[in-house]
Formats: sequence, structure tokens, C-alpha cells
Amino acid sequence: MNKPGRERLHSNWKARLVQKGKASGLHNGPGDAMKLTWLGHAAFLLEGKDTVVVDPFLTGNPVAPVKPADVKCDIVCVTHAHSDHYGNAVEIAKRNRAPIVAILEVAAPAQVAGAETIGMNIGGSTEVRDTKITMTNAIHSSCFVGDGKVQAGGSAAGFIIESGPKVYHAGDTAAFGDMRLLGELYEPDLALLPIGDFFTMGIAEATKAVELLGTRRVIPMHYNTFDIIKQDPGEFKGNVSRKTKSEVTILKPGESYRLE
Ligand SMILES: [Zn+2]
Repeated sequence: MNKPGRERLHSNWKARLVQKGKASGLHNGPGDAMKLTWLGHAAFLLEGKDTVVVDPFLTGNPVAPVKPADVKCDIVCVTHAHSDHYGNAVEIAKRNRAPIVAILEVAAPAQVAGAETIGMNIGGSTEVRDTKITMTNAIHSSCFVGDGKVQAGGSAAGFIIESGPKVYHAGDTAAFGDMRLLGELYEPDLALLPIGDFFTMGIAEATKAVELLGTRRVIPMHYNTFDIIKQDPGEFKGNVSRKTKSEVTILKPGESYRLE
């Protein structure tokens, strides 16, 4: 109902620019909805007021259901510099003329590579088109590796993305106590949490993360892409339903979820 699809958004682009000047009524009106599609690993396509792709690691991702050229978006968000997150961000951003939103140290090389970028930092928010993006803390590392060299990638981050509904993409992270603060401050409608272990939280930690966040709807990510992060998402779902009032939805790569 009233789903602001790309077609309508784009045909109303000029009208929206005028409307935006009034700075009211654009966020979280009744009837807002988002279609969220898992592109495997930590990659998601969020089709809300704008279409946002997060961490588009598609080339080299054995479970990716689409190719970079198939991704149509308005905004690209990148949580950190590791290749399984930065992935195809630059080529997707260029093809779609979509800005890359990332921490300064990730945005700078993306800009050198020819992408439009918005380099921000943890704790801050920005409005891009009709989407509000807040960068959150994540406990993880971040660097670019290539040509035998390692280049610093700033701090790893997560995002609260409000494009209609509000989604927390935790990025790669350990569980941390301030997830409670994120839950209180931003009250996300849905949390995307890594459960793969080894590089990030495993099932026990991610279950605690759900308790801390208090988010009603949860989708697990960053598992079963490679053997080293093999997990049973059903175990996570069972743990969460035993310990919290939250509901876990398990997607297969390429599957979508409708968030009202
Ligand atoms: Zn990762």
C-alpha cells in the first residue's frame, strides 16, 4: 500500500525536490513500507523511499543472486573497507550515479576511483535524497588489501537507514553493550545482524544483541557464504524466540521481506 517504488519516485523527482524544501511529512508517514532483499553475505537491497544497497559484495560472492550490473539504486552504503563489504560499491555507484555513504577513510579512495561519495563518521547522521542515514559503532577492523599492500580503512561501522521504515544494519561486529543505546536512541523497526562467528558475532552473541537492541524484527546475515562462517540460522531463531519477544526471519539469498 502506497509503496513508493522507483518509478513513482523518479517521475516525481522534481516535485519531491520542491517538497523537500518544506522539510516536513517526508519521513515515516502512514503507509510507508520497504521491500528488503538479501543479496547474500552482508549485502541487502532496501527499497523504501529511496533504493539503498548496503555492502554490495557480489563478484566473488558464491551465493550472490545478482550481478553488479543488475543492481539499480539511489544510494550505496558501505560499512567498512574489507572486500566482502566494499565489494562492487564503486562500479554500482558510478553506473547508478548514486553516492557512496561510508566513513571518511573508505569514502576517500572511492572518490579517487571516480565515485560520488559522502564521507561521514560514527555517531553522525546525514540526509541523502529522502533517506536519513546514521553511522553507528561496530567492533571490528577495517582495511583495504590489494597489490600486496594494506591500506587503512578507518573504523568499521554500522548504519541506521531510515527510508520509510528504519533498518539497523550492524555491519561486521562483536556484540557490545551500547547496542542497548542504539535501540533506545533509534528504535529500529528491523535489525540485520551477523551470526557467522569467527569474523563477527556468533549465535550466542547475536542472541544477546537482540536482547540489548529490543528490535522486534531480526534477519540474520554474514553466514554460510563460506565454510568458515557456516551456521544454522534455525538455531539462532530458536534462541531468540526463547529469550526475547523478537521474531527472526530467515531469508535465502535473493529472497525478499516486506517491512511495513
Ligand atoms: Zn565481513
